[in-house]
Amino acid sequence: MLPDQDGQNTGGGGGGGGESEDPSVSLFREYLRLKTVHPEPDYDAALGFLGRISEELGLPMKKVEVCPGKVVTILTWTGTNPALKSVLLNSHTDVVPVYQDHWKYDAFAAVKDAEGNIYGRGSQDMKSVTIQYIEAIRRLKAAGKTFPRTLHLTFVPDEEVGGEKGMETFIKHPEFHKLNVGFALDEGLANPTEAFTVFYGERNPWWVIVRCPGSPGHGSRFVENTAAEKLRRVINLFLDFRERERQRLNTSECFTLGDVTTVNMTMVKGGVAYNVIPAEMDVSFDIRIPPTVNLQEFEEQIKAWCKEAGDDITYDFAQKGMNQNTTSTADSDPWWRAFSTTCKSMNMTLKKEIFPAATDSRFIRAAGLPAIGFSPMNHTPILLHDHNEFISESVFLKGIHIYEMLIPALASVPTLATEA
Ligand SMILES: [Zn+2]
Repeated sequence: MLPDQDGQNTGGGGGGGGESEDPSVSLFREYLRLKTVHPEPDYDAALGFLGRISEELGLPMKKVEVCPGKVVTILTWTGTNPALKSVLLNSHTDVVPVYQDHWKYDAFAAVKDAEGNIYGRGSQDMKSVTIQYIEAIRRLKAAGKTFPRTLHLTFVPDEEVGGEKGMETFIKHPEFHKLNVGFALDEGLANPTEAFTVFYGERNPWWVIVRCPGSPGHGSRFVENTAAEKLRRVINLFLDFRERERQRLNTSECFTLGDVTTVNMTMVKGGVAYNVIPAEMDVSFDIRIPPTVNLQEFEEQIKAWCKEAGDDITYDFAQKGMNQNTTSTADSDPWWRAFSTTCKSMNMTLKKEIFPAATDSRFIRAAGLPAIGFSPMNHTPILLHDHNEFISESVFLKGIHIYEMLIPALASVPTLATEA
């Protein structure tokens, strides 16, 4: 059995929150306990939970089955001027698997330790944000507030497996178009310092397989033009580039992972027997390219490396992101101005970055809509997808307050020139 350090346990000392736990925290911990974990997420549990939230908040709920068994849930708070573009508060309901042996506590028990740290898969990515949206809206509704713009909360499945049966399909669905979205908030990352990180773009993932054909033969001979020789040159060219980018990241203090291209060799295939020189060997790379890189030129580079490595080498893409839309963070942009000035009014320091990996925001931006990736977690180590993922109770509660300020600002952005 795992040690019981649950803050709700009032039996002995050491409990983080004791019997007076904030109901927002209790709701968050309840949501963490739902096993919406891949490879078989319990989406029904999430739907049941959200149904209850819909009733509690008095907001109508719509369910859109974008693919069999994959439902996008929408809660809508209609604005006083529903003709205006709406604000989308997006979050995904799924979480990545855990290696339970590496966790201090059961990853689905939502244990709160003596310091008030709440452990659980999804505590950062991104069940905290989901509950923070919900609790901020609960408080704003209870305070009798209304805003000109409509707010939609969307809860999407399958983000963690690429979003193909989630946001990617939903964004093309007529029900998405009906939402009349003008601006979206989606997930970001924790920041271990005082600052909060906000993401205005993402790198494009390119998954490439390079096929090296060669002369087959007996393993005892010096056969000319072998697949392995070509494979070696391909690997060297890609990994030499990787090293140059790694150096570039390390030499400039203002660079983050989102500013450089990463390359990783992730699969090698080929060969049938110890004594047979194979007729083909393949190697695969996971490449992530920042929006500042010219994609045509980058593909020319790949082509040139393949040519340099030997005859008849070909490549194919398993994934080739081509969207380089970024969201404006100029002071003249009304959405960004509303977001950033509200943060400033709370003395928050924002750090603008390109997201190093991929989120559902890329589909929103590809549709031509502005999206900011933001998870309000400062003074928190980045633990998404990691063992012992946690968020502190105080950071979680502060995040609700941040959305209590941000949501009214965004939902009150004055009528845009394009809406007049
Ligand atoms: Zn996420």
